[in-house]
Order: sequence, then structure tokens, then C-alpha cells
Amino acid sequence: MMRERGNYFPEYEAEAQKVLKEVGYTTGPLSQHVIADIAEHLGFTLHHVGDLPHSTRSVTDLKNRKIYLTQSQRQDHDPRSVLLQALGHYVLGHETPKNYGDFLAQRVATNYFAAALLLPEQATVEFLQKAKAAKEIAVEDIRDAFAVSYETAAHRFTNLATKHLGLTTHFQKTHQSGIIYKAYENDGVNFPQDHTGAIEGQPSCKAWTSRAVFDVPDKFSAYSQYTDTPSGTYWCTARTERSASGEFSLSIGVPYQHVKWFRGRETTARATSNCPDPNCCKRPPAELTSQWAGNAWPSARAHSHLLAAMPPGAFPGVDETEVYSFLQAHSGS
Ligand SMILES: [Zn+2]
Repeated sequence: MMRERGNYFPEYEAEAQKVLKEVGYTTGPLSQHVIADIAEHLGFTLHHVGDLPHSTRSVTDLKNRKIYLTQSQRQDHDPRSVLLQALGHYVLGHETPKNYGDFLAQRVATNYFAAALLLPEQATVEFLQKAKAAKEIAVEDIRDAFAVSYETAAHRFTNLATKHLGLTTHFQKTHQSGIIYKAYENDGVNFPQDHTGAIEGQPSCKAWTSRAVFDVPDKFSAYSQYTDTPSGTYWCTARTERSASGEFSLSIGVPYQHVKWFRGRETTARATSNCPDPNCCKRPPAELTSQWAGNAWPSARAHSHLLAAMPPGAFPGVDETEVYSFLQAHSGS
């Protein structure tokens, strides 16, 4: 669905614009102050607590219009995003999800809504069109102009690139182990898939920018690379970001014909990827195989959250007893 729409959802853009207009936002990064205004405008009070249920980022008490957020300084999620996503469920009129598909669709919607507030459509498109005219499009410039993470900037770029700049693109978030956590494409890049078509949980090609960036000593600048693949030549740019669950690479790529609009196009880094051909990077070289086949017995570390395709419960991965007890304790009833 995201691919069919070029990852652009006008209905969420419109809701975000409406909210921004109502609190009198004009331009620049969305400050914590404006975000607090948004919450107040929507009739919610904010409560930072030390005992937020472990399986949650926020809990909303719809009865008393309270949003509970953590006091802790965990850097994994931008606190502004967490709050805007919580408000997104309310603004977009979400009901308790009926199934896992419903749950995922709501998450896509609230993520989109939060990003459309942090990087408002009009301001971001103006910024990108100027950069395109100067042939200087760069994700790190979007990050800096709107004071968001590289991941948020890169993902937001995919919302606007096709609709407003006429560019097809792909996005990838990859763990240092090589496993893909998030992916999007409408430019024909050949993501690895399992038999159900799932990309998340699959290992990314070792020749790709999203893997190569981990070996680049310069962590300050973006790393850009041309990669020849069976579906054409792509130019990709990536950075790494550290979080409590490890180091991740975030990358944006475009087909060769679009690279002229991007900073970093002069890179001399070049690689060849033959994936999904197993001889590309999935199968060990013949010499190593002849030495070790049958003589190695690794014990695998399980990625339980990725293996569990259909977690149980209305809010997968969330302990409802914990959440209800938490709300009961805080509401004083
Ligand atoms: Zn490969």
C-alpha cells in the first residue's frame, strides 16, 4: 500500500496541517513548547512517571485525558515523536485494533502523523525543492533544519520524494548484524524476502551501502556508494546511529538516473551485488567450505520479536494486565 502511494498519505498530511494551524505554528523545528500546546489544545494533560509499563513507550488514559510518558532518559526514541504518536491515535480516531494488520496500519498512520508534524509538508517540500535546484539534496540537511534524527529525516524523505520531487527511492534500517528492521522501496531495488514476502528480519546484502557503512571509520559524514545490482545501478547514502539495542545504519537510495540531484554523487565507492544469487554473499567461499563444512556447530541467538510473526493480543508485545494496573494505580480509583 505504501509503495502504491509513493509512501504519500494526503489524509495524514491534512490532519497534521490542521493541528499545526490551530496552535499557530509557522516555521522551523517543532519545539517541545509547541508540542505541549498541541497536547493542551487537544485536551490532554501530560504526566511523566517513573513506573511506565516496561512494554510501552506511552500510555493514554482516554477516560481522564491523560498521557503518561517515561521520566527516564532513554535515547532510543525522540520524546517528541512518542508524544505525537500517542496524540495521533486520538486525532486519527483509532479504535482498539481488531487484528495484527489493523495494529500495523495504525502504527504506520501514527508514525506518519508524528513525522508530518515534526517535518511539516510545506516547509519540508520548500526546503527539498531548493536543495534539488542546487543539486544538493542531503538527508543530513533535513535532519539539521528540522532538529530530528537521521532516521526520521530519511523516512520522511520517502513520503515527499515521489509526490513532490518526482523521485523514486528506497529506505532501509539495518542492524549491525545485517538484519533489516525497516524497509521501503518504490524504485525496484531487490530487497531480500522470505517466502511470505516479509523483508523485515532478512539479512541485507553484504555489498550494499547499508552494510558497508559499518566499516567506514568516518562516523561524522554520510557514506555514499554506487552499487551495481541485477535490477540496475543504485546510488545510496547512509549513516549509522547508536541506540540501546545496538548500532543501526539508516540509508536512502535512488536509481542511477536520479543521482544528479544529490550531494555525494561524486563518490568513487562502488560495489557489485548479485543477491539473491546465494553465491553473492550468503554462501561461504568454496575454500572455507572445504575446510570447515561439517566441523562447525554454532548456537544461534534468537530474534524472538522478529520470529513471532503474529504476536498475541490486541496490542502485540504489550502486557495488558500491566497497563490496566498502571492506569488503575495512577487514576486514584
Ligand atoms: Zn549479496
